[in-house]
Amino acid sequence: MERDPVIVIGLGGIGSAVLAAIARRGVRVLGIDRLSPPHDMGSSHGGSRIIRAAYFEHPDYVPLAQEAFQGWERLESDTGRRCLHRCGVLLTGGPDSEVLRESMSAAVKYGIVAEEIERDALRKRWPMFEVPEDHRGLFEPGAGFVVPETGVAAHLEVARRQGAEILTGVEVEAIEQGDRCPTVICNGRRFEATSVIVTAGAWTRRLLPELAAATLEPQRKAIVWCRSVQGREEEIDSSRMPAWLIDDEACGADGAYYGIPSHAGQIGPAGVKIGFHGPGVPLDPDDLRHEPDPEVLARFHREVSEYFPGLFVPPHAAKSCLYTMSTDQHFVIDRVPGRPQVVVAAGFSGHGFKFAPVLGERIADLALGQEVPADLSFLGLSRFDEPQLP
Ligand SMILES: Cc1cc2nc3c(=O)[nH]c(=O)nc-3n(C[C@H](O)[C@H](O)[C@H](O)COP(=O)(O)OP(=O)(O)OC[C@H]3O[C@@H](n4cnc5c(N)ncnc54)[C@H](O)[C@@H]3O)c2cc1C
Repeated sequence: MERDPVIVIGLGGIGSAVLAAIARRGVRVLGIDRLSPPHDMGSSHGGSRIIRAAYFEHPDYVPLAQEAFQGWERLESDTGRRCLHRCGVLLTGGPDSEVLRESMSAAVKYGIVAEEIERDALRKRWPMFEVPEDHRGLFEPGAGFVVPETGVAAHLEVARRQGAEILTGVEVEAIEQGDRCPTVICNGRRFEATSVIVTAGAWTRRLLPELAAATLEPQRKAIVWCRSVQGREEEIDSSRMPAWLIDDEACGADGAYYGIPSHAGQIGPAGVKIGFHGPGVPLDPDDLRHEPDPEVLARFHREVSEYFPGLFVPPHAAKSCLYTMSTDQHFVIDRVPGRPQVVVAAGFSGHGFKFAPVLGERIADLALGQEVPADLSFLGLSRFDEPQLP
């Protein structure tokens, strides 16, 4: 039997940040991953993730998002690696757009610098956008995107430097609950721990099957890269084009196209990265394949071209990525019922990466301390409890 006070299972976007946060506190910690992060077989690849503070998903994310910006800057100065690009984020939507309404209300409530823009002014400033007639915009100039591969590598670098031990290419098979403490089992080895943190992304339910009520369903999401037509390259560069999300009723109630401009030092394929934030295809995460579905590529090009007439040539590259959807699309961060020394952080439902540095700190607090940090209470497991009959 081997002993490590704290074990982090899964070192992707969130687990790498947790590992760094714990190691920074001088606590002995072991991180284990079945692959060798950063890799492109989970949820934290594809070269960019939007980060914004005027958050529409739930007001309690806003202070966390604001703190996340500082976390990324700290990580950059600790490692000399560029993670954060503040090219601004433009959201557009019609009169009934909840995305726009809730983002505006978050901006007002929390004093986030954000500018409401009527469609005509929007067209003057960014002539490449042709959003629907009844759309308006909200532009957050301090927002932008973070680079997931760099973020994961930087967090692992900090963790290593601070003395964390890291095992890669090792799959955890089970977490046994002993009388005194949990035991992590992998490759015939058994590690006793005082605290275990499960940040296994789309594989979390395999290790914690009891979390059925939180769902944690793996879904496949396609992302594509488009170049501009010749001569319009500058219009898709981050110096001219912000990151964007177009909340168009035509895409259905819970889906929207988003894009991240091309930029200097881009990781992965060139061009604008385009995705659709909305329901994905459920799958076994071991079956993730990157081969694009030609029908999906054609649909992306056809539909996105309506917002950018004549700007893009058809996608030249595509990848798949995993969302882990919780029942209500909010994160799941809590102690696991019946396993007081095991913390779960999963179900990031397609919007978790931006928070990695701040969640790393809060999850470390939770694993090393007693109470659930107050600002994470809206993400706890009790929200899935069955209502009690009177
Ligand atoms: C297409 C796409 C676009 C997105 N856009 C945004 C965005 O714009 N902004 C944003 O903030 N977020 C975005 N997200 C969401 C964000 O990327 C995820 O929420 C975040 O990356 C989740 O990180 P994770 O650590 O939970 O999972 P992962 O990064 O997948 O990490 C899980 C790790 O656990 C390891 N693992 C699993 N099982 C085991 C085991 N048994 N033993 C050992 N290791 C194990 C895996 O190998 C993996 O490395 C997007 C996601 C996708 C897919």
